[in-house]
Amino acid sequence: MMRPIHQIGIVGGGQLGRMIAFAARRMGISVIVLDPDKNCPAAGIAEIFVADYSDEKAMMEFSKRCEVVTIEFENLSVPALKQSLRPVYPSPEVLSICQDRIKEKLFLSTNGFPVTRFLTIPRFSPTDPSSIVCLSVEKRFERPHSKTLSEWITQILSIVQEWIDTELQGNEKIVMKSARMGYDGKSQTIFHSFFQFQNHLTKDWKGSGEDWILEQFVPFQRELSIIVGRNRVGETVVYPLVENEHRNHILFSTRAPAPSVAPQIQKIADWIAHSLPEKIGLVGLLCVELFEKDDTTLLINELAPRPHNSGHWSIEGSHCSQFEQIVRILIESPLGLPQLISESACMINLLGDLWSNGTPNWSKVLSVPGVFLHLYEKAEARPGRKMGHLTAVGHNAYERAKQAYTNLL
Ligand code: AMP
Repeated sequence: MMRPIHQIGIVGGGQLGRMIAFAARRMGISVIVLDPDKNCPAAGIAEIFVADYSDEKAMMEFSKRCEVVTIEFENLSVPALKQSLRPVYPSPEVLSICQDRIKEKLFLSTNGFPVTRFLTIPRFSPTDPSSIVCLSVEKRFERPHSKTLSEWITQILSIVQEWIDTELQGNEKIVMKSARMGYDGKSQTIFHSFFQFQNHLTKDWKGSGEDWILEQFVPFQRELSIIVGRNRVGETVVYPLVENEHRNHILFSTRAPAPSVAPQIQKIADWIAHSLPEKIGLVGLLCVELFEKDDTTLLINELAPRPHNSGHWSIEGSHCSQFEQIVRILIESPLGLPQLISESACMINLLGDLWSNGTPNWSKVLSVPGVFLHLYEKAEARPGRKMGHLTAVGHNAYERAKQAYTNLL
């Protein structure tokens, strides 16, 4: 039975909050958005409750104004969200896993999900007398406590060397990521050799105050993702597996469905999509970002428990968009059909770089048949900033989306 929910709350009024708000308003549900910026992209579509995301008192007041709360990004203050007087979906517990790469990798690997080989690097603490512990999928590496930073670096280097020799079979190409607050390749460095990594740590490195994770560099064939929705009674819907192309670590395009998926890859993706949401206790949406290493190996890169950029195609391309789906989950209505409405869809992001000579001529996009334009009404266009996207649906969607994009260049 659909509950008579009249007002939902969204924490975050960026483009994702804006698109959730659009979907809710279309169904006659009003929306209040907590955002520090009264002119955020959701302004005009929703009432904006101006407050800092970490303001616990404000979160409590905000929650009194709605019946259920969701979020548009995972890097939020969990203690603040716990102050909400209304249910928050996804729950703060799910967020606390997904906002920390270490917790996320440990959760996935201990539950048997396939992940990149990794090693956790705890922050340096001169006052904490406990030993240094770094964890991989297989092992716990332990060294005595270090009182000085240089001692700590020496210990870490010896652990990393051992990890590379034993678990990476001497393969030295690794990626270092901060455990928290990294997205779109931010706080991330690729090292081509142990020597490079050593230089990084020993030459004026400023990162010893935070937790890090090292990953084996995966020479993947391509990046895929899958979005799943799960409601309070445990029913799930799974969107088609899609192919993502990144440029400079930022999503450039998504093709739905991913073309030419090997049967074994589809099988693993289906298993992940059907088992992971229940394991993590999800109510809401979850995007699983994947590396297709070869025709039989699929690895989980990371999780995003919210609508995802690789699901924007679903607004015009599927029976029920990811945004409508999260609204349906929040208001406890039946789940919507995630399938494509036609043979294919393709989404391309429009970054601020396209504004370098002023506002682009949108007629060049809209003149291509079957192409839809979305702009997020962000005041300032900066290079790399997501300003909008375009979607093509139907026969040859990929080619038409590319054509529309190329017309702008
Ligand atoms: P992330 O912030 O973890 O999503 O990483 C951003 C992008 O960096 C990914 O979409 C990949 O293109 C690339 N990347 C991240 N981790 C790895 C890895 N272990 N091996 C190869 N490429 C990676």
